[in-house]
Formats: sequence, structure tokens, C-alpha cells
Amino acid sequence: MLLTAEMLLNYQRCSRRVFLDTYGKAERKDAISDYVLKLFQDSAQHHKAVLGEEGHVRPSFSKGKWQEGTEATQALMAQGVERIYQGVLWFEAGDTAFLSVPDLLLKVPGQSIYGDWLYMPVEIKLSKRAKTEYQTTLAYHVKVLAQIQGSWPEEAWLQVKDRPNPYVIDLWEMLPRMEVILEELQTMLRDRHQPEVFISRNRCSLCQWYGHCYDEASDRGHLSLLPGVTQTRYKELVGMGVTTLEDLAQMPPRTLELTPGFGLETGMRLVRQAQATLHNQALPGDDFPQGGKEMRLWEQMVPTHSVELYFDVESEPSLDLIYLHGVLVVDRVNQTQTFHALLGETVEEEPIVWQKFLDLVWAYPTAPIFHFCPYEVQVVGKLAKLYGTPEHLVQPLYPRFVDLHDRITRLATLPIENYALKNIARWMGFDWRDANANGAQSIYWYAQWLETGDRTHLEAIVTYNEDDCRATYHIKEWITAFLKTAAVGANRDAAIPA
Ligand code: SF4
Repeated sequence: MLLTAEMLLNYQRCSRRVFLDTYGKAERKDAISDYVLKLFQDSAQHHKAVLGEEGHVRPSFSKGKWQEGTEATQALMAQGVERIYQGVLWFEAGDTAFLSVPDLLLKVPGQSIYGDWLYMPVEIKLSKRAKTEYQTTLAYHVKVLAQIQGSWPEEAWLQVKDRPNPYVIDLWEMLPRMEVILEELQTMLRDRHQPEVFISRNRCSLCQWYGHCYDEASDRGHLSLLPGVTQTRYKELVGMGVTTLEDLAQMPPRTLELTPGFGLETGMRLVRQAQATLHNQALPGDDFPQGGKEMRLWEQMVPTHSVELYFDVESEPSLDLIYLHGVLVVDRVNQTQTFHALLGETVEEEPIVWQKFLDLVWAYPTAPIFHFCPYEVQVVGKLAKLYGTPEHLVQPLYPRFVDLHDRITRLATLPIENYALKNIARWMGFDWRDANANGAQSIYWYAQWLETGDRTHLEAIVTYNEDDCRATYHIKEWITAFLKTAAVGANRDAAIPA
């Protein structure tokens, strides 16, 4: 059995992924997305930046020939080379081969089989945080390195992004923790025990097994496809014998009142979610208005105005850049819809498009500004601070912002797998012109535009952004219509068994 640091890292994120990487059929894997390819490129650039001007040596060996690689690396270590980049460390114990390729091996004073020096590993990560899974993976490099050089390094460093100094790993804590995880990983592979599928949006979205796992979850009506079912809650539900949508939809929410991770409110919400999904129908949510007073409040919370603005931004996180402010102006009196793509074609144009945005929103000084999720408002605060925008131009904007994600999740329970803009608007009948476009793809497109100057990338971003604004408008219209059902007596608790 071959064990690698990458397997250990992936195992901590999803054990099933390591199982599928080892035993799954490669043809079932999705192609690597453009966004993931961009992350690889960003990571390579980050490595270059960290390595800087200081020299380093990389062992030379044929691709995939790990034993040859470890011999080349050991030769460099024996020579006392100061910095070895992506050296290969390999040892076998019983039926298991341990492979480690730390980003950097740094020569430090001490005793090893080579003389009065030894090496310590450094990992270089694009992340801004020293995540625990990175730290345990570094502990794995330490374990393999100790076998090779006959001595344990006292330190191991993690160099994350935007931090001048490396993070020093607590090896006393991380080594035993790593051994436990490594043991579990070996047992899973040895027993060929395939972990159950569990779709989690954050974890699965960039995984190449997503299509395969999603199909399986979908065929089985797996509860992980239901919003609000976390892994912890899923375990509790299974323990109670609740494994299907039907089970959950019929469950009295009071049963979940004292269950860890639930409580009555969450229980009611989950049962309602199961019912909405089972019957493919929108149900009144927690804050659905129950009377005239609540209805009037909602009319203020989702205002209808002669002119309304629908706003969505596009950013490039690795450059910390906001390059597109998309604004759809809906004029209900003149029955027109005009989309404005305020686009920065270079990094330097960010303040120009920010000013254009301010000019546009102040051209309609009383128009509500609808957006989806808090990000757009955060961007406005950030840019105002960055460019020293006068308070009187920024503060009055805040009461005009209306977050439709907040409104829809309080008002309705929808038969969808998550409450992202795409899922919601698609369920309501809106279609994006480019079905495959998404936020990650637009980040890739912008990077391509900067690199190649090919305008088709910019055009694709603008189309996608315009559709996001129009989808936001579509949701607003749906909310307004749904609110009207309150007037005919829809009751938020009607469908929930006591
Ligand atoms: S798609 Fe999700 S569940 Fe499947 S292997 Fe990848 S991370 Fe794990």
C-alpha cells in the first residue's frame, strides 16, 4: 500500500475521496475545472514568491520514479545543500510505502546521519490560514523525514499567504494526531471500506468525483442533498432511523427538540424543508407574514419602487480586485430594463469603476438596491474606505440595500438543494444564457483576459453578470407574488405536524 501526504490531506477533507482515488474508476471522474487549473497556477506563483531570490536545488529524476527521486534527494541532503525544493522522501515498513514530497527542506544545525546538520520541512500553501489538516500533513512529512535522516527535526514550518513569517507547527500536538488519522486511513484502504456519500457544497464543489457522488446521492434520495442536513445532524437522524425524505417529512419536529445539533426551530425548519422537497412545492417560511401588520412590514422589507436597481459585483480574489459592478436598472413606470456593466479592463481601473457605480446609484437617489447575499454591501464599504469616499456619498446607500437572500430564506422554504442564487432562480424558472457559467469560472475568465487580452473572456463575464442581476430581479418578482398568498391566508405552520 502506498501512502502519501496528499492522501492524508484529502482524507481529512473527505475519506471517500481517498477511497475513490485509490479504487474508483478513473473514467468516472469529472474533468479538472478551469478554476482549479487557475488555482494550480496561483499556487505555483505563490511558491515562486516564497522561494524568492534565495537559491534552491531541486532533485532530478524521471517522472513517477519515486525511489530514484529519493536517492537524488538523499544525495543532496548528504552534500548539505541549504534548500532543497520538492525533494522526495520514501521509506517502506511492512506492506506500506510512505512517500513525502515537502515543498522545501531547510538545512538546520543538529545531528543526523549526514553529519552535524539535519533538515526540517516547510510547506507552502496558498491558504490564508494554517488549517489543521495542513499541520497534520506537515507532521507526516516530519515522520518520513525522520526515517530518512535518522533524526527528528525540532520544528516544521507552514508558509501561508499574506503572512511575512512562517507558522511554526506544534509537533508535540500534531504528530500523535497525525498517527491516529494515518491509522484510520490505512484501515479504510486495507478493508476496502467505501465511505458513504455525503454531498457538502463547500467540500464537494471542486472535487473531481462530484458528478459520480452526486448521481449516487441523487439516485438514493440522500438526505445530504437537503439544505440544513449537516454531517453531525445526519448522524443523529440515522441514529433515530430517519434515512429518507419521507421519514423526515413525517417526523414530528418535537422529536428533534432535545436532539444535539437540532432544537425545535431547526427541527421545524428541516421537517418543512423535507416536505417542500418531497412535494416539490414552496412552503411559507419562518417569517411568512401572518397578519396585516406583518404584511406591511414585509412590504417595507421588499419594497416596490418606480425605479429599482439590481446589483452584482465580480471580483478577482487573488488580486484583491473588484473589476465589475453590474447594475440592472428596472424602470417600472416606463417599463424599461437597462443593464450597466461598469467594467475595469485593467487592475488600475478599480477606482474609476467605483466612481461610475457611485454616479449611477446617485442618479436614482431613492431607488432600492437589490442584491443577493451580503457580499455586495461589504464591497461598497471596502471600496469607500480604500478610496476615501466622502461619508455623505456612502452612508445613505446602506438603508437602500435589500438582501434578497435574507428575504427569501426567511419568507419561504423551497424544494431546492441549496439557497444559492442559481438554485433558487432556476427553480423559479430563470435560465442563464451560459448554463455552465459560475463565479469560479468568471474568476478564471478574468485571469485569462489579463493574460491574453482576448475580449471574448470579458464578454462572457459581462453576460454572466447581467444574468445574475436579472436572476436577482426574477427572485424579487417571485417574492412579491408569494407575499400576495399571505393575503389569501397561507399559514406557515399549516403543513408542519405537531
Ligand atoms: S464529491 Fe464530495 S463526497 Fe464525493 S469524493 Fe468528492 S468530496 Fe467526497
